[in-house]
Amino acid sequence: MNTLESILALRKELELHNYNYYVLDKPTISDFEFDTKLKELQELEEQNPQFFDENSPTQRVGGAITKNFETTKHKFRMYSLDNSYSKEDLLDWEKRCQKVLGDVHLEYVCELKYDGASISITYENGVLKKAVTRGDGFQGDDVTNNIRTIKSVPLKLKGDYPDFFEIRGEIVLPFEGFEKMNQELIEIGEAPYSNPRNTASGSLKLQDSAEVAKRPLECLLYTIITDDKVVDTQFEGLELARNLGFKVPEQSKHVKNIDEVFEFINYWDTHRHNLPYETDGVVVKVNEVFQQEELGYTAKSPRWAMAYKFKAEQVSTVLNSISYQVGRTGSITPVANLEPVQLAGTIVKRASLHNADQIEKLDIRINDTVFVEKGGEIIPKIISVDLSKRKPDSEKINYITHCPECQTELVRTEGEANHYCPNFYGCPPQIIGRIQHFISRKAMDIDGLGGETVALLFNAGLINDYADLYDLTKEQILPLERMAEKSADNLIKGVADSKKIPFESVLYALGIRYVGETVAKKLAKHYKNIDAIAHATLLDLMLVDEIGEKIAQSVVAFFENKTNVQIINRLKIKGIQLEMNEKNSTFISNVLENKIFVVSGVFELYSRDELKKAIEDHGGKVGSSISSKTNYVIAGDNMGPAKLEKANKLGITIINEKEFNKLIND
Ligand code: AMP
Ligand code: ZN
Repeated sequence: MNTLESILALRKELELHNYNYYVLDKPTISDFEFDTKLKELQELEEQNPQFFDENSPTQRVGGAITKNFETTKHKFRMYSLDNSYSKEDLLDWEKRCQKVLGDVHLEYVCELKYDGASISITYENGVLKKAVTRGDGFQGDDVTNNIRTIKSVPLKLKGDYPDFFEIRGEIVLPFEGFEKMNQELIEIGEAPYSNPRNTASGSLKLQDSAEVAKRPLECLLYTIITDDKVVDTQFEGLELARNLGFKVPEQSKHVKNIDEVFEFINYWDTHRHNLPYETDGVVVKVNEVFQQEELGYTAKSPRWAMAYKFKAEQVSTVLNSISYQVGRTGSITPVANLEPVQLAGTIVKRASLHNADQIEKLDIRINDTVFVEKGGEIIPKIISVDLSKRKPDSEKINYITHCPECQTELVRTEGEANHYCPNFYGCPPQIIGRIQHFISRKAMDIDGLGGETVALLFNAGLINDYADLYDLTKEQILPLERMAEKSADNLIKGVADSKKIPFESVLYALGIRYVGETVAKKLAKHYKNIDAIAHATLLDLMLVDEIGEKIAQSVVAFFENKTNVQIINRLKIKGIQLEMNEKNSTFISNVLENKIFVVSGVFELYSRDELKKAIEDHGGKVGSSISSKTNYVIAGDNMGPAKLEKANKLGITIINEKEFNKLIND
């Protein structure tokens, strides 16, 4: 094979794996194998720029920046859908159709109504040309660069495709990915997104397509539109789209009559909560295309389709009061305290109000009757106020101006939604929150110390920052509530053990704003020790892979603060790992994937447990005895002669710990 042939073969193979993974949800190779092949392709492409192809799987990571999204006319108009809310509405609609078509029997396709952002994608000669948002239906924004990063959207089609067509679909953010994104935001002290739909549509308008590439968006398709008729029925259209490589949800169903439509609706009304993404109804479409054509369109929507909206799980209740929570980064979140009410199987007492703008927008007042809804999110939200029930003496809410915990005047930075309390070192929930973050599992992982105990220790005046943890004595903590001999010992031991936690986790534990787990690893790996990070300039930091201005600024600000520097110096004296120790580094990699190791003997650089952990951290497995499945035996001093013989007989590679280090560090 020459280079071009290798490149083409790799592209084809990777495209197929993308399809298996993102469209069929059935991967056939491991992520690691995929990444290896992708890297191989990337290198070949870099060495041979003459073979660049914007449709290569390597281009899915994005990078293109769109400063202004160009307004683009739709060749075929993007219509809305009429809504119905009851069986009677649907029966009326069937009658209207039959009036136009003559008294014919109608068959339908039932599809779920995906709740995201609508998109129209144009393909020419089997290649993605353009992706445009709905806009006003006549023209929308060209978001092609961003759509190209969504891996379930084919860049090139398979099979027998029409030369030119538009395909319509919905960009959604599945719950799982949404929760994960929010988890990461919460971890670094940022406000979480409020719901998957807005996050999905907001994603389409991000200027940096590399950011879009990182979001786990999906594209679900439902209609192919062409100049010439290519299918006879709606259902065949779905099958065609599927055969061309698009993601077309399997729930769509061809039904023989309106009663079967009702069955479909009833089924999904209760089962929709098990779907991986949000749906807000069912779309019923007349199946025969010639009947669709005869029915035509109103000014806004097709006459041959009707959306049925599920009843939102919504109740009304009274707003008793608003409390304001202070997070560990000082950010203020208003929370509504409601008269308890039953909703979607749970009792709801509180709802998030997000920020001052949200309160303003809802114009919510104490003692108002409000509608509360539960969407895909865990915390329910207030949708609107029932103005007919408003008390005449009600007053507009004055958002707090001072921190409810420490009375410091609140600050609101330009461009940020939330107010925050700037009293970083004197505001109790911030101090407690920081220490709780410090001891958490992904940070210092301190066994024997829980979040409540941190609050107890703080309130007893025993700790005021995380470095104080290392000065605690058993005598000090024994008198605390619910503390016994054993739990006190555990606490002291847990704190002492945390001195072994590797640098990258310590860096994350410090709680620098915007420095999450991944960023901490990047910084640790790049700078190797805390002093190097502390002395890095804004520019230095921004040159590190994946570190942007916002993170860089936050790191610089953290080390400019004298209190922080003092705390870190105290941590240093206590023996906390503030530099990389290659030996217990937990840089996770996959270099040992699918490899089975057996460890035998005693070692110099590692304890046996450390060695096993290192194997697992790099994706390998630890076997208990040597067998034909074993790939490597790591031999230390005093390896048993029987084992040695067995390994030799089976032809298994025997390595020492230094050679093992080479394996994982290469
Ligand atoms: P509406 O926004 O209420 O006018 O509803 C029309 C929108 O519903 C379309 O623009 C699509 O974005 C969206 N939609 C979601 N699922 C479907 C589906 N299965 N068929 C047609 N439209 C759908
Ligand atoms: Zn405060």
